[in-house]
Amino acid sequence: MIITRFAPSPTGRLHVGNLRTALHNWMLAKKHSGSFILRIDDTDAERSREEYVNQIRTDLSWLGIVPDQEERQSLRLERYDAAFTALKVAGRVYPAYETAQELELKRKVQLGRGLPPIYDRAALSLSPEQIDNYRAEGIEPHWRFKLNHHETIIWDDGVRGIQSFDPNLLSDPVILRADGSWLYMLPSAVDDLDMGVTNVLRGEDHVSNTAVQIQMFTALRQSEFMPQKSGLIKHPNFAHEALLVGKEGKLSKRLGSLGCDAFRDKGIEPQALVALLARLGTSLPVEATLDTISLLDTFDLSTFGRAPAKFDEADLDRINTALVHSMPFAAAKAKLPRGMDEDGWHAVRPNVSTLAEAESWWKLVIGPIDRIEFSEEDRAFLLTAVGLFVWSEHPWHDLTVKMKEKTGRKGKDLFLPLRQALTGKSYGPDMGDLLPLIGEDEARKRLIRASE
Ligand code: GLU
Repeated sequence: MIITRFAPSPTGRLHVGNLRTALHNWMLAKKHSGSFILRIDDTDAERSREEYVNQIRTDLSWLGIVPDQEERQSLRLERYDAAFTALKVAGRVYPAYETAQELELKRKVQLGRGLPPIYDRAALSLSPEQIDNYRAEGIEPHWRFKLNHHETIIWDDGVRGIQSFDPNLLSDPVILRADGSWLYMLPSAVDDLDMGVTNVLRGEDHVSNTAVQIQMFTALRQSEFMPQKSGLIKHPNFAHEALLVGKEGKLSKRLGSLGCDAFRDKGIEPQALVALLARLGTSLPVEATLDTISLLDTFDLSTFGRAPAKFDEADLDRINTALVHSMPFAAAKAKLPRGMDEDGWHAVRPNVSTLAEAESWWKLVIGPIDRIEFSEEDRAFLLTAVGLFVWSEHPWHDLTVKMKEKTGRKGKDLFLPLRQALTGKSYGPDMGDLLPLIGEDEARKRLIRASE
């Protein structure tokens, strides 16, 4: 059984890149009838906000992503303590006392010498007296995970292929801050084990975190730590997708900071965003489809490219328009103006690029319509129309044919005054579709009024 998770920190709104990662994890799980976990990474109590948690839920549900399970790191601190204790017993964590400034200085010196800025493990050679001194001064340590320098890190990445890291070139990561708060790395590994996560799919900015976490999984397995889920695997399968960038190279500030609201407010349908994000950055063509099942069926990590995926809002607009133009009444109904039926939707559909625009065209049917000032000549023309107007199966066709014969007008001269008289507008949906919706009595009234 495939189990995936999306693990946002509720310290801000989700941006399109996050939404894409969430979607892909959901798709990966659903394609295999697996389970998708929403994991709220809220160990940073200071920056995490409940309002963001709610917005994350709302955004996912707007996209049609329904988690099978929701977890919160803040409710699982005991598990992280247990893992920490086990790692401590196994000698895989150690206290360090450097201040941020001291660490920064070390980094600068290393860089100045042309060396990679790797933590020098000075804390491992502190004498018991030095540690006592820190304690006496009331200085709390932060804790680092001790990488095994003899264990080369290798995994077969679902997108990037074989990845190999030399642990000697990585810093022992800080996992627990001096104030007792967790950094995300260890809790995340503990959760993945406890929840039986089989696949971790995330952005390529996490590749080096994965290298470190792979050693954490091994260390936890070799320690006294007992994962809650049996059938323990070595570690989840990892896949890192290329990042999503904006048209100009990075995500704009707006797209980087707004959740789904920006799209919803613009009249973008969630399915349009799903259709685009599902395939952006893959070798599969982006198609305007309402058919989530077909997107799931074709979802395949092997189609993911290594180059950054370019997100262009103009593409989204185009997909949205195409989607709306092919949207069946049943799918559109909930967002259409009250009273609009299937014929009404089919009449206005080709003229809208968002469902919200249906409202203004529907006004042409239900009125009141704009009043147009006609020339004397046109009024006479419209008076003739009143006389010739009869209801039939194709009233617009019949009326225009008769008017053409009677008055000799054609083209714009023939059609425009009639359209204006019947709808109050010079352009709009096909009159052949609109007129039956306006109805005989109302149409006659409008013609009479315009001819007066
Ligand atoms: N909270 C982390 C983030 O948002 C989780 C990353 C992950 O493990 O997927 O970057």
